[in-house]
Amino acid sequence: MKAIAITPGAPGAELIEFQEPEIKSPTQVKLQVLEVGICGTDREEVTGGRANAPQGSGHLVIGHEMLGRVIETGSEVSAVRPGDFAVFTVRRGCGKCEACLNRRSDLCYTGDYTERGIKSRHGFETEFVVDDAQYVIKVPESASSIGVLAEPMSVAQKAIDEAIKIQLARLGKIADEEWMAGKKVIVAGIGAIGLLAALALRLRGAEVTGVDIVEEDSRRPSILKRLGGSYLNAKKVAITDLDDRLGQVDFIFEAAGVPQLGFDLIDALGINGVYVMTGIPGEGKPVCIPGSDTMAQMVLKNQIILGSVNASTLHFEMGIKDLERAKNRWGNLVDELITTRIHFDNFEKALDFRSSDDIKTVITWK
Ligand SMILES: [Zn+2]
Ligand SMILES: [Zn+2]
Repeated sequence: MKAIAITPGAPGAELIEFQEPEIKSPTQVKLQVLEVGICGTDREEVTGGRANAPQGSGHLVIGHEMLGRVIETGSEVSAVRPGDFAVFTVRRGCGKCEACLNRRSDLCYTGDYTERGIKSRHGFETEFVVDDAQYVIKVPESASSIGVLAEPMSVAQKAIDEAIKIQLARLGKIADEEWMAGKKVIVAGIGAIGLLAALALRLRGAEVTGVDIVEEDSRRPSILKRLGGSYLNAKKVAITDLDDRLGQVDFIFEAAGVPQLGFDLIDALGINGVYVMTGIPGEGKPVCIPGSDTMAQMVLKNQIILGSVNASTLHFEMGIKDLERAKNRWGNLVDELITTRIHFDNFEKALDFRSSDDIKTVITWK
């Protein structure tokens, strides 16, 4: 079978012939890969950035955002059946730390986890994949057209879930599971993860304001507005004016990965507010922040800032549920999040593809 592989550390990617995997234990599942989404991580890998080949291999099959169809299951598998749409999660635990031993490899303490398509484990940019059933999640047919968004959606879900759980824990009786309803939230960076977060937050009844630097009438703000959110262009509005414009902001979801913006946004956070950062900037110059004001504000307003990466199986499940709810509520609008589909024969075009209107480019394997 074919696969898209890189030599970690060296630029470029190639289509290789690769041994088709087989089920070797009663708890394994085999999927035919249908689609694999591309994100900044893949583009970094193919330019020679962060990636590790599996032990004993000189190359790495890339791809971590997948959708497949079950074609075979081991005798003990009950979570999925042949014919089902399904996704595999990305991270595999270190097998040593408490987090990983409790199925929370997203919170791994040792850093010795592996990740399919990124760190020491072949990925999903290929025709067939096999893995253990504990890493598979069924995708309902009604959400299959956007099932490939399950992985980026899981990242958004974890961040939102953590914010809600923190508020439930500390606000006690004055917060509940519906805490997001009616709250003002800012989503900074409305790429794939930001728009998926906006979608999940709109499903929870939040008033969403997206912040980015693209023109108001371009594709991404247009989708945000049709989801019921509003848009502010950070080139035209000062970030430090957001608090005056918006009033009490309860939650900020950061997905831009721009340090100056990330720290400037703290100013907009309201009383008892929670701020989750998910963007990972590359190396850059130090940023300047009004330290005294920021620190005083955080203390006097009981604010929380946290970082969030990766996601657990639970967040994949929550994400797939939200994708299904979103399809029911907004129909084909949600499909517009997938902006480009390119067959694996033309994978180089997909990896090179860059446009400010691009949200999610997907490589198809059917
Ligand atoms: Zn990704
Ligand atoms: Zn671990």
